[in-house]
This record gives sequence, C-alpha cells and structure tokens, in this order.
Amino acid sequence: MALAGADVGGTNVVVGLVGEDRRVLARAKQDTPRSVGALVDQVAAMVAGLPERPEALGIGIPGIIHEGRVVQAPNLEGWDRSTDVAGTLADRLGMPVALVNDAQCGLVGEWVAGAGQGARFLFGVWLGTGVGAGMVLDGRPYDGAGGGSGEFGHVVVRPDGARCGCGRRGCVEAYAGRRMMTESVRALAATGRRTRLFEIQEAKGKAQATSGVWAAAVAEGDPVAGEVLAEAVAALGLGVANVWNLLDLERVVIGGGMAGKLGPYLAEGIVAAARPHVVRPIAADQVVAAVLGDDAGIVGASEAVRDPGRLPA
Ligand SMILES: [Zn+2]
Repeated sequence: MALAGADVGGTNVVVGLVGEDRRVLARAKQDTPRSVGALVDQVAAMVAGLPERPEALGIGIPGIIHEGRVVQAPNLEGWDRSTDVAGTLADRLGMPVALVNDAQCGLVGEWVAGAGQGARFLFGVWLGTGVGAGMVLDGRPYDGAGGGSGEFGHVVVRPDGARCGCGRRGCVEAYAGRRMMTESVRALAATGRRTRLFEIQEAKGKAQATSGVWAAAVAEGDPVAGEVLAEAVAALGLGVANVWNLLDLERVVIGGGMAGKLGPYLAEGIVAAARPHVVRPIAADQVVAAVLGDDAGIVGASEAVRDPGRLPA
C-alpha cells in the first residue's frame, strides 16, 4: 500500500504518493495558503486528488514539532498554533497523520532513497529562505528532547557578526539564508556595486530572488552575488566543521532550494571551508549534494508514518 507525504513550505505545498519501494508515484504542487484553516483544506483536497488512496499521511512543516504539535513556525504566515493540524486532517481523511520538521523530512528522504543512503551518522543542511538541518544518528532520525534539534541556522560562526532574522548576531543563517543573502546584495548595490541579481529576478517575473534567480546570477559570474555566496559557503563550512567535530559524522548532505542547481558547487566549497577546522579529516566525498529535489521532502514525510520496523539497516 502506498503512503502520502506532504511538504509545506513558505511558498509551495507539495503532496506526493510514495510506493513501498520509496519511489514517488505521483505529485502535485500548489501555492501555500495564508491561513492554517485553508492549509488543512488544501492538503486534504490534494491527498484526495492522488491517483490512489494512501494508507497514511506524513507532513513536513518548517518549524519546531514536538509530540505531533507545531510548537513554532516562524516562516509560515498566519499560523495558529492552537489548530491541531494532524488531528483535524486525520479525522477528515480517515487515516493516520503525522507532523515532522521539514528539513528533517528532506534529510530522511535522502537517507532512505537518495544521497544519504547507507550512512548511519548523517547530517543534512537544508538551504532555502532560511537554513534548516536534519540529523540521523546511529541509524535513527534525531530531533532532540523537545523537537528543537537541527537549528543549525542559528549556530554562531561570527561573534558580533551580521544581524540574523532571529534577532541575534553572527548566525549561519545571517550569511547563508537566501533572504539574508539577498539583503546583503541589496546593501552592496546601495553602495554603488553593480549586480544583475534583481534584473534577473524581474526578467524571470519573480516576487523575490528565488534559488533559480540566484543560480542564474552565479552562473553568469555576477561578482556581487558571487561574493555574497562565497561568504555563505565560508559560514556554512565553519558551521559544518563544528558539527563534524561534535558528532563524528559519516556524511553531510546539502539540500533545499539553493542546492537544486548550486548543490555540487556548495558541497565542494563547504568541504574546503570546513577542512582547516576539523579534528577527524573530512574527505571530498563526505559532503554531497542532495539528489531527490522536491521528492526528498515527500519521501521523508511519508517515512514518518511508515512502520518503524522498516527503517534502513
Ligand atoms: Zn539566528
């Protein structure tokens, strides 16, 4: 029997049907609605629209999830924490529903079916609007005592450094989150530096500098975008080195929207930036780009409702 996985992002909701072999059999993508009530309706309709009725549904949410409830979701507009999303959807669809952190879903997807296969100690850095992370430790997805692990975006790499969206300073996300990177380009442009980032954004008809806009600017050698990306890679490398030293990992997977086109470039840069700071050596093939794209979140979310006896050995 197939399972369903949903990945709720700040911009899109993706729902897919996942087979026994962990392959995505069908998928649908829609804009993220602006209220939690509308989101519940939308996910229910998208699941009902799948070509086969799934046995259960897992949902990845960009926030802190503990015991099936959303504790914090700062990147989702209009999110009302009092809504029991899983319970409401379970009643509506007549199937088990579980909520999980979205970056953790992405990493678990890559672990069971993508770039993380075969590793028992795995760390995933998910680069999008912000910076998320997931972990598999000793062959088990790990989310901490209260669902708050994986806040890699707020690991401090520059004391008194750039202001982060969280209000603190010097966090990885202040350098490597796409929203903050775009702000850095805007600030440099305001000092008279020439950049094509915003022209590319306009030409692509985007409301913001998406990962695709960034990839295009880097591909054409935009010096300001390149400089800001180099700063991001340096911050990520330092952060990854700290995590590597702490956890004694086998592999790091770089995923999320920004890894879609820039993944191999980012992976290579992060290894080089991490290398001077690691105690146990880190090989070039131990930091890899995600390979499943949007499907990582779908597959990983479906794992949350798969029989736990079926985790990879
Ligand atoms: Zn922060």
